[in-house]
Amino acid sequence: MKIYSDSRLLSLGVINGTVSRQAGNMRERENQDALFNALSIPTDKILRLHQIHSDKLVSVLDDASAQTQAAQTPLTQADGWILIPRGWGAAVLTADCVPLFLWDENAHLTAIVHAGWRGVAQLLPQKTAQELKALGARGEISAYLGPHIQKCCFEVQQDAACQFDPQCVIHQNGKMFVDLTREIIRQLALEGVPPQDVYAPDWCTCGNKEQFFSYRRDHQKDVMLSFIYKP
Ligand SMILES: [Zn+2]
Repeated sequence: MKIYSDSRLLSLGVINGTVSRQAGNMRERENQDALFNALSIPTDKILRLHQIHSDKLVSVLDDASAQTQAAQTPLTQADGWILIPRGWGAAVLTADCVPLFLWDENAHLTAIVHAGWRGVAQLLPQKTAQELKALGARGEISAYLGPHIQKCCFEVQQDAACQFDPQCVIHQNGKMFVDLTREIIRQLALEGVPPQDVYAPDWCTCGNKEQFFSYRRDHQKDVMLSFIYKP
């Protein structure tokens, strides 16, 4: 098992990353629990969502609101978290969609987002940065894009392509591809996040079967987990 993390966020004391497929299908709660137990992270302190490919975020500003979210059944329907209190974490599930991490100086505010193409088309990355600023983000905002489907594999049809900024749509041999990475960097730049502060390695979930689950490649329901935890 490998965890694809951002070292800047680690150095601020926030454990984070996307877990490779060796950890199993993270739709299964027992696989999630096994992972967090192995990392000595209290699994009942990890907030979870019912993801709906929306542009909806949940802000958890204090311990009381974290406890409310942790007790929620069924799970809150949304696609991202903004988290302040220490002693809590949050998770999202992906298999090609972008696990997007955002934080301000000292990671006082930390966000983790399930940014599928629908969420990206609905400007969810930009809205997350806006929300961080509205909540009083300190200093510069930084970002990390975990493993997701890259422009090499994300072929789309006209109905999807037309929902994106033209500079993020690539035309090649009569086919169309969307560059989600570039589109997210573009959206974040509109909110003042400098592109050089966005860590976006070209790990392609669809192109690396050994490490990642990919819905596009395998048409299975298996997903990987991405998480943050603020001890
Ligand atoms: Zn690829």
